Amino acid sequence: IQTILLKNRPEGKPSVSDFEFVKDESDVTIKDGELLLETTYVSVDPYLRGRMSDAKSYVPPFELNKPVHSGVVAKVLASKNDNFKEGDFVSGMLDWKTKQISNGEGLLKVDGSKAPLSTYLGVLGMTGLTAYLGLNQIGKPKAGETLVVSGAAGAVGSVVGQIGKILGLNVIGIAGTDEKVEMLKSKFGFDAAINYNTTKDMKAAIAAAAPNGVDIYFDNVGGPISDAVLFNINKFARMIICGAISVYNNTELPQSISVQPFLVKNSALMQGFIVSNYADKFPEAMKELSTWLAEGKLTYTETVVNGFENIPSAFIDLFDGKNKGKMIVKI
Ligand code: NDP
Repeated sequence: IQTILLKNRPEGKPSVSDFEFVKDESDVTIKDGELLLETTYVSVDPYLRGRMSDAKSYVPPFELNKPVHSGVVAKVLASKNDNFKEGDFVSGMLDWKTKQISNGEGLLKVDGSKAPLSTYLGVLGMTGLTAYLGLNQIGKPKAGETLVVSGAAGAVGSVVGQIGKILGLNVIGIAGTDEKVEMLKSKFGFDAAINYNTTKDMKAAIAAAAPNGVDIYFDNVGGPISDAVLFNINKFARMIICGAISVYNNTELPQSISVQPFLVKNSALMQGFIVSNYADKFPEAMKELSTWLAEGKLTYTETVVNGFENIPSAFIDLFDGKNKGKMIVKI
């Protein structure tokens, strides 16, 4: 069994040497109630960066010299647990290991005949739920309003924008390459998209794309992009603070404008969002996302990297925007 441990707490941008590959020779004989799993797909996500540092957060940090874990889809190789049988596929938070034993807790059975297995880590998994619940619960969208999404070509952002279109919003995406900007408009139906890497004046570009101002901002990135959005918000705007990838690797406190005057002037709401706080709403969200997917109203894209040995580099590539849609490693 191959395992990936966290060797160092990354300083700045993580590097492959922060991880260690080891062979785990432990016994794989299962006891009553247990199942043996073989990893099929591994989700790499920006939030894992936070768990690699030891700063206080909403989840405890990863322990050094212990396996990293994230969302995984795995095949049941053997089972002594009544809820799962050999050949089933499951999803859950599992270790970065090629094989592992589980007691079944926290695992969900997933059906590869209903949707491709990898989608249970993306549009039908945590990132899809984040998009749906963040936009609806905090954004409270009303048809005709204008939605701006940052990190728009990523796993969460690409779903947020499409839901915005389904709900009748005017949707503007912000992403890092011309190819992504084109994809947002042609594949995902965004009304407009802006490449933040080639646009000098983001404040003006957002104003031009949103002549009626911004009612909802779904923020995946923080930093200067989000500052530029603030200048364009409308009265009673809602800002969903879902992530801040632009500052995750900072080693010094970021320079940022003061948000208070913008909030006061516009009676605007800015609220942090963590998907796990909305677990009671997962079933209804999953139902709607699967229906939209089956009806073709919602689509998705994935960047699939092959090979267990490439999990750390796929994770690091998120910080260079190498992915379109959900970044997934196929084992
Ligand atoms: P993505 O698929 O969006 O991948 C990350 C993307 O971030 C990259 O493709 C890149 O795209 C962009 N990016 C990287 N560096 C920067 C930067 N300096 N400035 C602007 N954009 C940058 O990841 P996810 O969809 O999984 O996650 C998106 C955000 O949502 C993250 O911040 C994540 O932490 C957060 N999140 C929060 C959850 C919650 O419950 N609060 C749950 C899930 C995710 P580009 O080429 O456009 O730069």
